[in-house]
Amino acid sequence: MIAPVSRRTLLSTGGALAASAFLPTSLAAPPEATKTTGTRGAKLDLRSLPLKLTHAWTISRNTSTEKKNGLLTLTAEGVTGYGEAAANVRYGQSFESAEKAFAKVAKAVEGLSPWEHLAWLERAEKEAGVDSEVVAALDMALWDWKGKKLGAPVHRLLGIPTGRMAVTTYSIGIDTADVMKAKVKEAARYPHLKVKVGLPDDEANVTAIRSVTDKPIRVDANEGWKSAAEAVTKIAWLKTMGIEFVEQPLPSFMNAEMKAVKAAAGLPLVADESVLHPADVPGLVGLFDGINVKLAKCGGITRAYEMAALGRALGFKLMLGCMIESSLGIAAAVAVAPLYDWLDLDGNLLITGDPFKGLSIKDGVWALPFGPGLGVVPA
Ligand code: MG
Repeated sequence: MIAPVSRRTLLSTGGALAASAFLPTSLAAPPEATKTTGTRGAKLDLRSLPLKLTHAWTISRNTSTEKKNGLLTLTAEGVTGYGEAAANVRYGQSFESAEKAFAKVAKAVEGLSPWEHLAWLERAEKEAGVDSEVVAALDMALWDWKGKKLGAPVHRLLGIPTGRMAVTTYSIGIDTADVMKAKVKEAARYPHLKVKVGLPDDEANVTAIRSVTDKPIRVDANEGWKSAAEAVTKIAWLKTMGIEFVEQPLPSFMNAEMKAVKAAAGLPLVADESVLHPADVPGLVGLFDGINVKLAKCGGITRAYEMAALGRALGFKLMLGCMIESSLGIAAAVAVAPLYDWLDLDGNLLITGDPFKGLSIKDGVWALPFGPGLGVVPA
């Protein structure tokens, strides 16, 4: 287990979060030299970043074989930063909706210097609507740009502690029993597994996977169970199968019913679809044991940094997850991953032809990159 995070200030006045309260003071203001150059503004671009899944991906909501993410580039002062927009249909997002949101966001940030990071974020959040993945891509690109400009990796700019990266889970996609058993064998180098439940054949699927491995397994119901009673029954059975914890048993609109599930459940319960932004976290106290933060949901590295501090302060276990995304989006998550207890950062491990390179993983543990910015480059 990872030691609790110690951060200087958690909350600003009025209960709202002030991102600047979390940032090292050296990053709160633009360097003097940049202020005097008079260089303002940046060139922004968003294009499609198609990803191909190695295996069909089935969760309680749908099945997919490919993913259309977006590549956001921010160029200023001769340096280009990259960010990835990983749309999720669950939140009403698509590449097409991201393009529309991006057009609005790009207009709103016109004339800002990349050093005015929080102003970019606030304007982007105001304009992006449901498309938080666009805010996330912009935030990643700003950090990548800043790291390249200063010649330092993003995790170092953020003051993230080194030497405490949790093991990431590796997802075993739902398929026939024989295929799932084969996938478990293929995943030999990953010590922790994750399995999707909330499907008609949960018992058969988990039994098949458990029959060929003793590794820790975490499950994700993706809002797939329809009542507190069903969730309690499923969780009690999952406990007998040596499952470590359960993500999002019920639909997010049934948050209130999670109180009863939590009281009866013998396993830790982690909110995912029920927690998007920092503002969602306080309302989950007493309903879940942990929160699953994803950059594409919360709006990027800066907000994930804040959510780690806030979640820790409110007593939650902290999980950092991802969408299906390339090494670019995963690298952005890795930059703040040491703040989190549980990692589910395998999106780039589930695709073929990763368009970015530079990240490395050993025995399920991501290495903090040493290159400047996010530490990845186009493949
Ligand atoms: Mg989940």
